[in-house]
Amino acid sequence: MELWEQVKERLAARLTWEGYQNWVARTTQHSFDGNRLVILVPNQVTREWLEKELQADVQATLEELGAGKLDLAYQVADATTGRRAAVDREAAAPIPPGADSLFGGPVGALNQRYTFESFVVGSCNQFAHAAARAVVDSPARTYNPLFIYGGVGMGKTHLIHAIGHELLKRSPNLRIVYTSSERFMNQLITCIRTDRMPLFHQHYRSADVLLMDDVHILANRERTQEEFFHTFNELYDHQKQLVLSSDSAPKSTTGLVDRLRSRFEWGLMVDVQAPDLETKMAILDKKAEQEGIQLPQDVRVFIATKTRSNVRELEGALIKLLAYSSVTNEPVTIDMARQVLKHLHAGSDRRTTIDSVVRLVADKFSLQPGQLKQKTNAPNIAYPRQVAMYLVKELTKASLPEIGRYFAGKHHTTVLHSIQKIEQLRHRDSDLNKLIHSTIDSFN
Ligand code: ADP
Ligand code: MG
Repeated sequence: MELWEQVKERLAARLTWEGYQNWVARTTQHSFDGNRLVILVPNQVTREWLEKELQADVQATLEELGAGKLDLAYQVADATTGRRAAVDREAAAPIPPGADSLFGGPVGALNQRYTFESFVVGSCNQFAHAAARAVVDSPARTYNPLFIYGGVGMGKTHLIHAIGHELLKRSPNLRIVYTSSERFMNQLITCIRTDRMPLFHQHYRSADVLLMDDVHILANRERTQEEFFHTFNELYDHQKQLVLSSDSAPKSTTGLVDRLRSRFEWGLMVDVQAPDLETKMAILDKKAEQEGIQLPQDVRVFIATKTRSNVRELEGALIKLLAYSSVTNEPVTIDMARQVLKHLHAGSDRRTTIDSVVRLVADKFSLQPGQLKQKTNAPNIAYPRQVAMYLVKELTKASLPEIGRYFAGKHHTTVLHSIQKIEQLRHRDSDLNKLIHSTIDSFN
């Protein structure tokens, strides 16, 4: 192996992930005559960084390898395209000391566990997953930006990291920048305050792929939005891929400036929804498998039904159970699950009444509970009533005739028909699906 490749290998372990990706990954050995080592670097900024910031690390690594003190030179590789050269000129501003920790901190690293392999695909997220795959197959060609939105703990961050990992696997030289919007904002503030804006621009605008998590955080932060707007344009104009996540669709995110909102809508918007029971069980299996454990069927069902539709909570329950099993050195059983996960159990043991479900549904549709019991087929009542019937069936032990009696004496086949209709509709209508999940969650 070439000397520089050995140095790189060690630097990878020594530096933060981002530090390595930014400054070392794209360098190669030009020549080595036993005394003088010449390294090719992609641009002037990288050269300065290596000379000023990483010199000590490089020298120490060379000594570790027994190469002693060498005459080390960095040479900027010929720009292959005009555009690259332009970017490099712009980015050639001197880099102040201390900047490394600002951009290279461990927060920026991709989580090793968030890969496509560990992501379970179900009907709740298959579209988002397919879009993420498409972006990996042809970055900046298919969907740009890719905008992934959905509730907390639905796997948005996981998918974004998976895109990063997969792109790097295929093209190790890509400069991938992952950041949360909060981090983006904090870095911006620091750079403004300490007069380091050129560095900020250089860091973000020279990305080949920008993965930006939780853009809803930018709401009402005008200066940050302004800055992100320019970052977006710069990258987009140079056909760089952007992947964004948010807790809501651009149109329903208040506090976003219109020009940014419209850009978010340029590419593809996909939502991730709460997992259904089947997907929850598949996720449990996958996580258990990663821990080298096979969950008994009744335990899977128990955890999946007792947790809300938030994957993070699902994981938390499993981790707790596995920890208990490992400490006591006993296999996981349903009794153990019942005991260890009492807190989940207790919530749903509370008696859920038809009244309480109907009250909540009425509230979501801005109606009075009494209105849902009226004998009318006006659409503004009939639809919420069908949703209420569906949820009563899901959440209480009431039989179809009982439900019929409650709702203005409807026949039980009418009730069944309503329930089936809502069941079908929720697969197509994500707003309805969300409403159902949030109602179920509030009873858990
Ligand atoms: P979000 O960013 O949408 O709030 P995360 O991506 O942080 O959610 O997901 C929360 C947790 O649930 C993570 O540990 C993630 O690995 C896990 N998770 C979410 N969705 C899935 C999935 N479809 N398959 C496997 N794990 C998942
Ligand atoms: Mg997230």
